[in-house]
Amino acid sequence: MDVELITVGDELLLGFTIDTNAAHLARELAAIGIGIRRRGTVGDVAEDIATAVREALDRTGAVITTGGLGPTSDDLTKPSIAAIFGRGMRRDEEHVAWMEQRWQQRFGRKMPESNRAQAMLPEGARKLTNNHGSAPGIWLEDDRGRWVAMLPGVPREMRGMLADTLLPILQQRVSRDGHPTVVRSRTLRTTGVAESLLADQIDPIRESLGPISLAYLPAPDGVDLRLTIRGVDAARADGILDAASSVIRDRLGRSIYAEGSTDLAEVVLDRCRALHLTIAVAESCTGGLLGARLTAIPGSSDVVLGGIIAYANDVKRDLLGVDQQQLDAHGAVSEEVVRQMAEGARARLGASIGIGITGIAGPGGGTPEKPVGTVWVALAHEQETRALQLRLIGDRDEVRRRATQSVLELVRRTLSEKD
Ligand code: AMP
Ligand code: MG
Repeated sequence: MDVELITVGDELLLGFTIDTNAAHLARELAAIGIGIRRRGTVGDVAEDIATAVREALDRTGAVITTGGLGPTSDDLTKPSIAAIFGRGMRRDEEHVAWMEQRWQQRFGRKMPESNRAQAMLPEGARKLTNNHGSAPGIWLEDDRGRWVAMLPGVPREMRGMLADTLLPILQQRVSRDGHPTVVRSRTLRTTGVAESLLADQIDPIRESLGPISLAYLPAPDGVDLRLTIRGVDAARADGILDAASSVIRDRLGRSIYAEGSTDLAEVVLDRCRALHLTIAVAESCTGGLLGARLTAIPGSSDVVLGGIIAYANDVKRDLLGVDQQQLDAHGAVSEEVVRQMAEGARARLGASIGIGITGIAGPGGGTPEKPVGTVWVALAHEQETRALQLRLIGDRDEVRRRATQSVLELVRRTLSEKD
């Protein structure tokens, strides 16, 4: 089954509120095999709501809206859609009584007059229970079986109503309409490999992946490959995704560090734990980001010993033992210095692995030889110290994030040689 989604609210069009309802709905519906065919957003304008819903009904016959169900004058969803169905509005006295009782019980006072508007329902509407607020959702259907489900805009209320009331209704329809199908995705995560390079490797084997759609999703932390299958039953979907991901894994090998939403930091920690290794960090331009990434993972304390934010040269020298001569001769952003930072962190904190990061995050501080985005990272362990120069793109925030991700990848790759 396909549906169209229309989110309502000036705040969405103005960009003050991010449309998280649309993302949540898409994921939840996919899980029961419903695809969102098309999605749109309109402001709090009766005519715009009506036009968008009418067009969607003509195309797809199944529409979900969120927003505009509240008690105030900008809440226009119900009457606009009732008009499309040629229905008038009537007050649901049962709902008025329920709201009045709720106000007395919860707030110990009389319900404001404007809340009565929330009990105005289109004729012939089915109420969708709201366990988290006072505006009911509405299901409206015509004699041709075309329907609109109206959900509240407040995300918590919308999510509750979807789970408690709408999903069960839709699930029933999906199974009534024949074989239940699903929309399922799987994500394979890579970092440090350009999107186009990945595509060059995958294109020759694309046919062998079966009837999946494949999306390349680049972000500062790397490129995720999202495999999606739709229109088949759950068991077949899993089989197709298993087969396709194993073909891609064979092709890309070590470039894939995880599946799903697993953070690279977690992969590194798991690997260290298996090898009984501990980590100490020395961070300059990332100012603690690496330590934060690692310690955000529950259970990191058995691997992470600690770290030093060595921003000033004096701190690099006094706390990490970096040579003043090397600092003078090569500058703080150099191979010599990053090696000594990693080795210093390892020695002074007594860890198996020391990690160093030093670079120019910008926006100032760049030179022709060392432009903004020049970052040196190093990893010191028992056998050797490895250093790597990075030329990162993006603003200060991105350079710092990319540097953190790159050094985690350096650790992962180094440890994966220890098989
Ligand atoms: P409404 O039901 O239209 O009065 O919306 C109530 C509040 O819910 C708004 O002020 C927004 O903060 C939030 N909201 C409405 N629509 C969305 C949406 N699509 N995604 C996330 N938040 C929303
Ligand atoms: Mg609104």
